[in-house]
Amino acid sequence: MALAGVIGWPISHSKSPRLHGFWLAELKVAGYYIPLPVAPADFPDAVRMLPKLGFAGANVTIPHKEAAFAVCDSVDPLAQRIGAVNTLVFRDGTIHGTNTDGYGFLANLQDLAPAWRPEAGPAVLLGAGGAARAAAVALIDAGVPKVTLVNRTFERAAAIAASLGPAVEAAGSDQVPGLLATAALVVNTTSLGMVGQPALEIDLSACAATTVIADLVYAPPETPLLAAAKARGLVAVDGIGMLLHQAVPGFEAWFGVRPTVTAPLRTHVLGV
Ligand code: NAP
Repeated sequence: MALAGVIGWPISHSKSPRLHGFWLAELKVAGYYIPLPVAPADFPDAVRMLPKLGFAGANVTIPHKEAAFAVCDSVDPLAQRIGAVNTLVFRDGTIHGTNTDGYGFLANLQDLAPAWRPEAGPAVLLGAGGAARAAAVALIDAGVPKVTLVNRTFERAAAIAASLGPAVEAAGSDQVPGLLATAALVVNTTSLGMVGQPALEIDLSACAATTVIADLVYAPPETPLLAAAKARGLVAVDGIGMLLHQAVPGFEAWFGVRPTVTAPLRTHVLGV
């Protein structure tokens, strides 16, 4: 009986138990995936206890992704570059960390915008938090020629650009109209547009007809940004698919079967 879970604080909002529960039932795997509310001060001790309780691993979410990086005995090169861990795998008495956010972002993009190609042109990322860093790494690894980060706090964007090399740069918000005019992909990685947050204010009129607009926010499933993109006839990529795809490698590592992202899964996780 394999055990896994998701560690966060708070955790009651997490869709991951519903997501992994769907796959466990669909694939007839004998296992459980449970929410684990852990306060920041308890995080290292709680993680070290999980293998002793029979857990095969866990997902890690806000606010623990950097702390998870620190608690691991080994971290793969991708998570090293992102500087955060969202998936823990316990094996042979050690804690191994990886980061599947970038993988989930790219897999969802390829799923919902199949005509998009990395080499089609530059990408503009709005925001410069942990999710932006994961998306930037995924995009440059895929071959996107230039990734530009625009963030309220410019220094955070500049720090990511400095650490990821010449394909990534930071720009001020005054440069957004010019950046949009040449972008093949525009991604909201801020929390703007989330339930309870103001909308992301951006004028998409400069975008070419082929520009893909993606939003990492998944609650609501259609953000004001995505609605504006659709109104202009642009391809809009929502955040829920990233959440589904990023869960695939963890499920496979813990339960031994690679699950697939399907329309029934999406409906189940959205609860409609
Ligand atoms: P984070 O590290 O806290 O970064 C938050 C970002 O949002 C920062 O760039 C921040 O700018 C910006 N921001 C927040 N409030 C703002 C405001 N009022 N005006 C302008 N910018 C604002 O968070 P994260 O982990 O990167 O997550 C960002 C978003 O991605 C969240 O909505 C999260 O739910 C979503 N996400 C989705 C998935 C998925 O699977 N779909 C996975 C990971 C994250 P400053 O730097 O100036 O504070």
